[in-house]
Amino acid sequence: MPELPEVETVRRALVPAMEGRRISNAYIGRPDLRWPLPDNLAARLTGRMVGPLSRRGKFLLVSLDGDETMLMHLGMSGSVRIHHKRPAIGRHDHMVLEMAGAAAPAWIVFNDPRRFGWIDLFGDGTHPMLAGMGPEPLGNEFSAATLMDGLAARRGPVKTALLDQRLVAGIGNIYACEALFGAGISPRRRSYTIRRQRADRLAAAIKDVLVRAIEDGGTSLRDHVQPGGEIGYFVQRLSVYGRAGAPCHSCGTPIRSLVQSGRSSFYCPGCQR
Ligand SMILES: [Zn+2]
Repeated sequence: MPELPEVETVRRALVPAMEGRRISNAYIGRPDLRWPLPDNLAARLTGRMVGPLSRRGKFLLVSLDGDETMLMHLGMSGSVRIHHKRPAIGRHDHMVLEMAGAAAPAWIVFNDPRRFGWIDLFGDGTHPMLAGMGPEPLGNEFSAATLMDGLAARRGPVKTALLDQRLVAGIGNIYACEALFGAGISPRRRSYTIRRQRADRLAAAIKDVLVRAIEDGGTSLRDHVQPGGEIGYFVQRLSVYGRAGAPCHSCGTPIRSLVQSGRSSFYCPGCQR
């Protein structure tokens, strides 16, 4: 499931194919994904100039001329492909944007088999999905102090809190598990018991796992010699996620898993308290 590093990798891949170019043609395959898509979306995208691409949490934001922004969410299974020849449109390809430009044309394909992704357009101000979102973990507003403040009011386990986009933006199940391992904090620890020292370690671990994953995404893009390959998924260097029963890289104790709020948490009982 795409989290902040995967979405950032998609954004970086799309910048050269989209920024400063015009959408010469748009195809929308169905009226809805997770939620209904805007009416006449294909017609509204056709002819638009694309400005800067940005990211907020797990959302990709594509600025368009006419002061509109296209919001994209990859959901559970969404990915993007970039083609330099006109592609055949597959069953799960829900949006195809043909980008005109002085350089070779490009086709941007949004694919989402499970259809938990979403595309929307919005004008002035912010989108309701972005309102109330917490700080960007790699931005200046995020620190051990803001993290500790956010956790202080919460009774539930810290793992569940990290998935709440109002606490910190862009973290999902994989990087929540990895960050807690990096900080030596049990996923079961009550949020409000995380005070100064643990907050310092957790804030640093969050940044560290995300930065390393973005680097891995960048490596995957450099190795991305075949056009039309799926962007947004790459081999992550994971310490605990998905490794139940395997030995901890640090202490050798078998990694355990437990279910919290319907999601699997992975942790090392030897390293995390
Ligand atoms: Zn361990």
